[in-house]
Amino acid sequence: MRFILAMLDILVKGISYLLLPSKPSSKPLIPLPPSRPQDWVIRKLNSKNYALSQTAQANIEKLALTYLNISSLFKNPLRITSGYRSQDEQIDLYRRMGKRPPLGSAHCFGAAMDILDEDGSVFATLSKPENLIRFGIYLEAKSATPNWCHVQITPPKSGKRIFIP
Ligand SMILES: [Zn+2]
Repeated sequence: MRFILAMLDILVKGISYLLLPSKPSSKPLIPLPPSRPQDWVIRKLNSKNYALSQTAQANIEKLALTYLNISSLFKNPLRITSGYRSQDEQIDLYRRMGKRPPLGSAHCFGAAMDILDEDGSVFATLSKPENLIRFGIYLEAKSATPNWCHVQITPPKSGKRIFIP
């Protein structure tokens, strides 16, 4: 019985082999666009994959390059904890902290990212005047960002490189 089943199996496999097309399709493949070094950063900055306005898209592209540029200052990879936020998310986040949401946060324009900074070393390095200028960045004061570093690429209202949100 087992022998018959085995023979039957071989027969079925043989027939299906003959029936299946053996030649691969000769249609040319559509080439995938080359991925750019900043693409994974953009995915991280817009992790919920929101449809962005043109301005936010342009900002996030520039912010991702800024991330790669400032990363060159550090031995370990910088961990992004927050990037683009929708207006609703921003309001919700501050409501949960029992605070009034700041209006016009750069996060809502794709122009700001938060980087994990438990020992303050990220802020210490980025806040050096030469780095603020060289990378074109603005930081929230350390007093407002205890264990993270808020980096943005658009100036705050005050125009100060280090500002209180
Ligand atoms: Zn922030």
